[in-house]
Amino acid sequence: MTRPRTSDFSGPWAGIVPPFIVEQLWRSGDTEIQAVALENETLSRLCRDGRCQAIGDLARAHPPHPMAGLLAIADPRPLDRRIHDAENRSVNFLPGRLVRAEGDTEVGDLAVDEAYDYSGIVHDFYLERFERQSLDDHGMSLVSSVHVGRRFANAFWNGQQMVYGDGDGRVFLRFTGSLDVVAHEMTHGVIQFTSNLVYRGEPGALNESFADVFGVVVKQWHLGQTVDEADWLIGADLVTQASTRRALRSLAAPGTAYRNDPFLGSDPQPAHVRDQYFGSEDEGGVHINSGIPNHAFFLTATELGGRAFEAAAEIWYRTMLELRPRSTFAECAATCALVATRLYGAGSPEQLAVRRAWTAVGVVVSERSLA
Ligand SMILES: [Zn+2]
Repeated sequence: MTRPRTSDFSGPWAGIVPPFIVEQLWRSGDTEIQAVALENETLSRLCRDGRCQAIGDLARAHPPHPMAGLLAIADPRPLDRRIHDAENRSVNFLPGRLVRAEGDTEVGDLAVDEAYDYSGIVHDFYLERFERQSLDDHGMSLVSSVHVGRRFANAFWNGQQMVYGDGDGRVFLRFTGSLDVVAHEMTHGVIQFTSNLVYRGEPGALNESFADVFGVVVKQWHLGQTVDEADWLIGADLVTQASTRRALRSLAAPGTAYRNDPFLGSDPQPAHVRDQYFGSEDEGGVHINSGIPNHAFFLTATELGGRAFEAAAEIWYRTMLELRPRSTFAECAATCALVATRLYGAGSPEQLAVRRAWTAVGVVVSERSLA
């Protein structure tokens, strides 16, 4: 097989499996796994060329309320899930055949039924915790495509919908099988309609981090877990377990999700700005440096104890909505502290926990800078 140029592995690619892991899959030398890397590369190139958008008009499925933006909508818009089967075709044939619409009974295809159930759980989380009406807060339809590609080892949000591969079965299982991954992709949608953080450098790492934070938070909310019961991992359900790998990322201990793995390499995530990555790969390390704000959330939640989906998630959610497209780590830390002060008061345990957590990961908290 011809080895793609290294530069082919970078680019604006918002897959849950980052380009540096795809490169490691290639380096494994295992021809079957190399084919998985190549498919990932081919599909990501189509996306970079703008060819992974839906062919049809997805908005027609559930158009925005005509008065949206003019009036506060009093009635909650009903949940509207639409699961499509891409039938192993590539990303330029999205969304594929509609196989399960809202209210339809189970179809017996695990990927279809998981995408349906998990997108409903994520929707309910945002509605019940934050009164958020779907990703755009105007009740947009939740469109998912499953069985994308042959053994496509990735999942992503393409700006309009969720896209899931089946995995290769040896290293990666079905991408619909991880509730935290479904919540991660859908949170990219929430970000797109709010802070719209640029997918590069520190704002890009914040974009990735909020997606990871709400990935684990939604799972903990669904399972009713406390901070001590949770595993704080992203993708534990879709990575086949081995002594060298347990997940794609860890918020509790960034940099420890996999080590010297024959297919994944070693987890490069830092937990402190002293180890921040400043290279050009992965859009300036969006899936690498996200370890820093990820760990700040973990430290905040564990210092507060109890349930991360209560105070800690509330502070992070408001912060996610208030940031700007080019916000930095320092601005995120300052906004977190201001939000905590507003919600819980100056000197409250919540505000102190936020300040201590960001300081612990090396980000100076200067609320005055935002005044
Ligand atoms: Zn992501």
